[in-house]
Amino acid sequence: KVKSLSDLPGVGQSILNKLIEAGYSSLEAVAVASPQDLSVAAGIPLTTAQRIIKEAREALDIRFKTALEVKKERINTKKITTGSQALDGLLGGGIETRTMTEFFGEFGSGKTQLCHQLSVNVQLPLEKGGLGGKAVYIDTEGTFRWERIEAMSKAIGLEPDSAMNNIYYMRAINSDHQMAIVDDLQELIGKDPAIKLVIVDSITSHFRAEFPGRENLAVRQQKLNKHLHQLVRLAEMYDLAVIITNQVMARPDMFYGDPTVAVGGHTLYHVPGIRVQLKKSRGNKRIARIVDAPHLPEGEVVFAITEEGVRD
Ligand code: ADP
Ligand code: MG
Repeated sequence: KVKSLSDLPGVGQSILNKLIEAGYSSLEAVAVASPQDLSVAAGIPLTTAQRIIKEAREALDIRFKTALEVKKERINTKKITTGSQALDGLLGGGIETRTMTEFFGEFGSGKTQLCHQLSVNVQLPLEKGGLGGKAVYIDTEGTFRWERIEAMSKAIGLEPDSAMNNIYYMRAINSDHQMAIVDDLQELIGKDPAIKLVIVDSITSHFRAEFPGRENLAVRQQKLNKHLHQLVRLAEMYDLAVIITNQVMARPDMFYGDPTVAVGGHTLYHVPGIRVQLKKSRGNKRIARIVDAPHLPEGEVVFAITEEGVRD
C-alpha cells in the first residue's frame, strides 16, 4: 500500500527531492495541489505533476464514493470501550477509529484519566471492546503516571508490564516539539502498524503558554490548526483513533453554550471530530456531554473515576 510520496510509482529520488524542496513533503500536500502550481514550484513537467497528483489522490482514496460505500466504511469503523457503558453509549459504542475525539473540561474533570484508560483498553481484544492494538501517548503537561496504567491494566486482566510495553510515551517539551512528534508519527506507525490510538494530552497547553493573548491569536490558531489537521489525517490514513484533550476554564454559566469560545469570541478551532465536554459532579462522578457531533444524538451521561479506572 502507498503510504508516502516515495511509494508512488514514478517518484524517484530526484523528483522526491524537488517536491520536498518545494514544500510538498507529504501525499496530502501533493493530492490537493494544482498541477500548474506543483509543476512550477517543483520544476517538473506539467504532465508529471498531473500524474503524481492523480496517484496521490488514489493513494489517499480521494474520490466520489456512493453513500452506500460511505455506510459500509462507517459500519466497519471500530470502537474502543471507555470502561463505562454509559459513556460508550453516549459515543455510539466507544471511541471511533478514523476520527479525532476531543475531551474538554475543567481541571480534574477526568481528561487525563480517560486517556490512561483508553491507552490500556485499546489493547483489549476486539470481543472485549479493544482493537488488540498499541497506543502512542504524547504528554504535554507531565501528568502521565505509569502507576495508573499498572492499576488499570490489572483491573481488566491485562499483564501490567506488557500493557506498559504497548504504550509509546513521549513528553512534548514545547509546541514545536509537539508538532514535530506528530510529524514523525507516520514513520513510527509505518514501523509498528499495531498502533491504533494516538493521544495528545493536552493539545492546547503549550500553544496557550507560548502564544498568549489576543495579539498572538492568529499565529496560535494557524499552528494549532495545522497540528490538528495533521492528526485528523493520521486517523484517516492509518484507520486509528486520535484523542486530544483541552482544558477550559469552568464557567458555570456556559455549560449549555460552547465554553471553548475563547475570550474575545473566537472559537478555538474548526476541525472535524467528536467533542465531549466533561464536568465534575459529586465525589468521583463525572458528567459527559457530546457537543455538536454530526451523527450522535445530544445527551449527557454520568460515569465514575475509580482506583480501577473509568467505570459506570
Ligand atoms: P484532568 O486531566 O481533566 O485535569 P484528571 O484526569 O487528571 O483530570 O482527573 C483527576 C481526578 O481523577 C482526580 O481528581 C481523582 O478524582 C481521579 N483520580 C486520579 N487518580 C485516581 C486514583 N488512583 N483513584 C481514584 N481516582 C483517581
Ligand atoms: Mg490532565
